[in-house]
Amino acid sequence: MWRMKNVYKTKLQRKMEDKLKNVKSNQFVLMFHSISPKETWYNRDYCMTAESFENLILGLGNKEVTFASLDDICAKSKWKTVFITFDDIFSDVFSNAYPILKKYKIPFAVFVTADFIDKHNMISGEMLSALSNERLCTIGAHTLSHRNLSECRLREQFREIYQSKCILEYLTKKKVAYCAYPYGNMVHIPLTAVAMARFAGYKMAFSTIAGPVCNGMRFMMPRINVNEHNWKHVLNKCSR
Ligand SMILES: [Zn+2]
Repeated sequence: MWRMKNVYKTKLQRKMEDKLKNVKSNQFVLMFHSISPKETWYNRDYCMTAESFENLILGLGNKEVTFASLDDICAKSKWKTVFITFDDIFSDVFSNAYPILKKYKIPFAVFVTADFIDKHNMISGEMLSALSNERLCTIGAHTLSHRNLSECRLREQFREIYQSKCILEYLTKKKVAYCAYPYGNMVHIPLTAVAMARFAGYKMAFSTIAGPVCNGMRFMMPRINVNEHNWKHVLNKCSR
């Protein structure tokens, strides 16, 4: 039964992603995880080297793609636009990606899992504080402990979604207006979690459903996962 349900939802997701291919939008939210040398990759689907990351940024810039912050998301813009986001927040994002983003003055967002702060290889309190003072950076939440929300009771779902916001707001002394669901596909985002993200006061919530910015999906906003193997394809897709 569980299997059947998952197969059904996966098909539904595929259907939705097919539909999104027909959405006319020239805006894409890009999702990154780890920016690190090949030797330290934990999963090839979620890692890329700093060199490739910089080449992607330069390539997009050369094709006159605009980089904007999440506050400027609007599916009807006539400009080709990308929004850079990172999930989980490995310390290598701070040490390898942040200097590149700063060098080219590119706005970006980090979706921080509150319980990961100061854990091995993850963002430290000091890094978070530096990013919260960086005008290019928007701090968002990625739940409290990165649990699969579809396996959480309602009370736990709310705790994951709301307490992460409170903790990050306390640590950064800034309003946290955006969140990203862990894992982020339709199997992992119960409708109750979507309702809770609204209720908790977020302006927008991000999924990993692949597609362009879509105004009708503000609480399940599609994103494109970028890694070492697909970044050239992503570059073409976003600059068409
Ligand atoms: Zn994550």
